Amino acid sequence: MSFPANKQQAVAVFGSTGSVGLSTLDVIRRNSQRYAVGAITANKNVDKLEAQCVEFEPAFAAMADPLAAEELKQRLLSRNLTTQVMPGDDALGQIAEDPQMPIIMASIVGFAGLDSTLLAARAGKRILLANKESMVVAGPLLKQAATDGGAAIVPVDSEHNAIFQCLPEANQLGAPVDRAAHITQLVLTASGGPFRAFSAEQMRHVTVKQAVSHPNWDMGPKISVDSATMMNKGLEIIEACYLFGVEESQIEVLVHPQSVVHSMVRYCDGSVLAQLGESDMRTPIANALAWPERIDAGVGQLDFKSLTGLEFEAPDPLRFPCLELARSAMRQGAGANVVLNAANEVAVEKFLEGQIGFTDIAAINAHTLKNCESSEPRSVADLKALDSAARSCADDLITNGLLSVGMA
Ligand code: MG
Repeated sequence: MSFPANKQQAVAVFGSTGSVGLSTLDVIRRNSQRYAVGAITANKNVDKLEAQCVEFEPAFAAMADPLAAEELKQRLLSRNLTTQVMPGDDALGQIAEDPQMPIIMASIVGFAGLDSTLLAARAGKRILLANKESMVVAGPLLKQAATDGGAAIVPVDSEHNAIFQCLPEANQLGAPVDRAAHITQLVLTASGGPFRAFSAEQMRHVTVKQAVSHPNWDMGPKISVDSATMMNKGLEIIEACYLFGVEESQIEVLVHPQSVVHSMVRYCDGSVLAQLGESDMRTPIANALAWPERIDAGVGQLDFKSLTGLEFEAPDPLRFPCLELARSAMRQGAGANVVLNAANEVAVEKFLEGQIGFTDIAAINAHTLKNCESSEPRSVADLKALDSAARSCADDLITNGLLSVGMA
């Protein structure tokens, strides 16, 4: 292993070419006396991974696509770099379990990130969790794996990291919040997305281009659409329930268009603790990396004098039905969360392809949640079976034209 024998901790960055991955590398770059990049992984972007290998000289670089892995291997050989290139999906598991990688940044999007996150949990790592899908679809399994392995799951999703920062230390990783009587409510803030002020009629005519441009955060197309339908906030309700051990009824959602207050915790004495800052993912990443200490994130200080006014309002359940769908799934149980997540992934994909309208997304989600049977998943195999069943159900709905029966 090529790590210097000082106190640097090796971080494995899963999904190092995505936006959270890049922000993580930047925080490590600024704190190179404390952290080294131990491993990086990507799907098939050889150019980006090569550049990262040159800069950080990690012990391992994994690529899901075997051809891309071979190409990277040849390029690194010609540069005389010692980074070991690992092809295929198993590589992630090996890195997740490697005792020389105490910190795992889990920032692979979607189901693909689940297996390695579970292995890292069983191996007792510090997991910086940016892959919200793994908590949404496998919350109970992931929490159990972390308890069994002695892992610390520190949330990177900006709202959950804000709540994490506002909780007493005993509740951050340990005791579920519902046993701490002094905490009354977790408050998730939401930007409200680009259609916050649209009428129901205007929302029926939203285009893909409008839906993928978020006012405050620079994000990928899937999460931008989720933000526009507020399904992202719905998934975050589910994520918060599992992370902090609360019921969905203990979570309040507030639309806060300026995205300055990232979330809050209400206490029984009337106090509300909030975390504020610029909309920059490097803040939650740095917090999760260094917790309980603080490190430089490269993020500027918030200038209160330039804030023209902070607004808060309740979300409109009629224009944003996905919020209530998420609450309903959470009340039904872990299987329903898998179904809702799968339906939404299918619906968003079809919307991005121009096959369905914007308001059809919620209609497909509602219909699939109602009609696809969901039993409690006991294993990853159960989860994957349920996920495919829900995808077929959502697909059928679209191909058979059921949407035209006036659901939307
Ligand atoms: Mg978020």
